[in-house]
Amino acid sequence: MKMVDGPELESFRLEARVWLEANLPLSMRDNTGQVAAAMVDGAPQPEEVILWRNSLGARGWGVPTWPRRYGGGGLTVSEARVLKEEMARIGAGNPVGGLGVMMFGPTLLEYGSPEQLERHIPPIARGELRWCQGFSEPAAGSDLASLQMAAVDDGDNFRVTGQKVWTTGAQYAHWCFCLVRTDRGPRKHDGISFLMIDMASPGIDVRPIVLISGESPFCETFFTDVIVPKANLVGPRGGGWQVAKRLLQHERQNTSAGSSPIGMASTADIGTLARSHVGVDSAGRLVDLDLRHRIAEHQMEARTFALTHARAEAEARANTGPSNTASILKNAGAKVRADRAELMIELMGHEGLYWCEETRGWLRGKAGAIAGGSAEIQNNIIAKRILGLPDAADTHGTKDA
Ligand SMILES: Cc1cc2nc3c(=O)[nH]c(=O)nc-3n(C[C@H](O)[C@H](O)[C@H](O)COP(=O)(O)OP(=O)(O)OC[C@H]3O[C@@H](n4cnc5c(N)ncnc54)[C@H](O)[C@@H]3O)c2cc1C
Repeated sequence: MKMVDGPELESFRLEARVWLEANLPLSMRDNTGQVAAAMVDGAPQPEEVILWRNSLGARGWGVPTWPRRYGGGGLTVSEARVLKEEMARIGAGNPVGGLGVMMFGPTLLEYGSPEQLERHIPPIARGELRWCQGFSEPAAGSDLASLQMAAVDDGDNFRVTGQKVWTTGAQYAHWCFCLVRTDRGPRKHDGISFLMIDMASPGIDVRPIVLISGESPFCETFFTDVIVPKANLVGPRGGGWQVAKRLLQHERQNTSAGSSPIGMASTADIGTLARSHVGVDSAGRLVDLDLRHRIAEHQMEARTFALTHARAEAEARANTGPSNTASILKNAGAKVRADRAELMIELMGHEGLYWCEETRGWLRGKAGAIAGGSAEIQNNIIAKRILGLPDAADTHGTKDA
């Protein structure tokens, strides 16, 4: 159903349209693919993307609903929707992104002190500084609260020593939001603190992990006696678990639509791909009846998911942000993308064995069900927190606790 905008929204639409016409460089029009590629894992961006990012960032429209005071656009949910529509109309990508926008910024806006907000939110809103996530450790993934990285009290500072793993984009990040152990308590998630660490600090060693694809989207990150001011604690000392759980909700909500470059499968249109590989009959329909049905079914599911996600996102923005329903969206989104990748490989026949964008997308798609907490952990959250089912096992301190 097409929404009808009131006069105020129509005047905002005009304002957005005029601004985009005046500020979006010609080379960046209908070029969302280039912007998306430039966002992958926080790698350095080409000059023309940086110029566009600077204009959008100065206007605050890279993060349209964030407060204007901290460099956001200060737009209402409806205005942000209109802006998104106008950006799609002119083919403008949003180069202000990364983990800072998707998960850390919204969490800091909720839990940070005024000084922390003044310092850290504006550079994220302008897309200037990159953040990475230091949560997982070799023996703490789903069982996140088993983390061991120690932050030892040293006057005004902590001395941080330990190892993180799967730190996406750590080799490019300026800052890391990290979970560390400052104390020990009766339960393992007591004594965990949420700390912001400057990646330029002495004692940090980042080692990219080379994958089967030849890419290195994530790293092992080692910390040895890294000095971190206590002023960098987000939330109370020992109270980091609550902050982390909120951040994971933002992560799941924001990556469930496939906006995370990591979870992105091939962007090729599946219908076009099917027509060229499988062939069509005289009425223009795919000749393979079974495949035709399954692709149609998938397209309906994908469209339904996209609409549901858009509605949930608008509701979350208008209320108190994401909730445990983000777990449902994450699992559903990962399944839709995985189904699409499987269908693409199947319809390509033996060409689906070649090393091409579609096969790489198929491999990348597997990661979507693991990043941000695996599908099984989301199922546990849905069972416990949404359906209210009893907690059979002792899972206190796992990512679903
Ligand atoms: C693409 C990608 C990017 C990532 N980026 C980051 C990042 O930037 N920063 C970061 O800190 N981490 C990152 N991670 C790590 C991610 O958070 C972990 O991989 C994830 O939480 C799972 O942990 P694990 O790999 O240790 O697997 P494990 O926890 O060892 O799980 C192994 C298997 O056991 C299952 N399992 C475990 N516990 C339970 C349970 N209680 N009930 C049912 N099943 C269970 C899991 O579902 C899984 O199938 C990333 C991962 C991926 C794939």
